Amino acid sequence: MTYRIGIGYDIHRLTEGRKLFLGGIQIPYAKGLLGHSDADPLIHAICDALLGAAGEPDIGENFPDTDPAYENIESLELLKKVDLLLKAKGLAIGNIDTVVIAQEPLLSPYKKQMRQKIAATLKIKEDCVSIKAKTNEGLGATGRGEAIACYAVAAINTKEA
Ligand code: MG
Repeated sequence: MTYRIGIGYDIHRLTEGRKLFLGGIQIPYAKGLLGHSDADPLIHAICDALLGAAGEPDIGENFPDTDPAYENIESLELLKKVDLLLKAKGLAIGNIDTVVIAQEPLLSPYKKQMRQKIAATLKIKEDCVSIKAKTNEGLGATGRGEAIACYAVAAINTKEA
């Protein structure tokens, strides 16, 4: 079994008048993230980590929002497409580890639900998905509550599950 590793990163600006979607779920908060569709940076970072591990171009290149087929597509739908792409190449997801950087809201009450949603979408075990939430100690754009950023690392293997 050969392992391949990928890394993904994403950041979206917080703004009023939008719902907050993170890790495939909606979280109650006064602001939401700006971007196409649900603008979910955690799912976008995971997509890029998986695509990177598979040796594929990033989500922007694979699913351009200028293409009407992908305009306003839900992030979980993109994740499903990435999963299909991996399966078509005979690649199986080993595990996904992530860090969410958000000064607010407090994310610990939602981490389990996010893990379950991501694991169910990818049909992998819940303990194959890890979500760590950090504030940025008030520093920089994320620390000032202007944006939410996410990092993701994925390990995939060449033997189908
Ligand atoms: Mg994004």
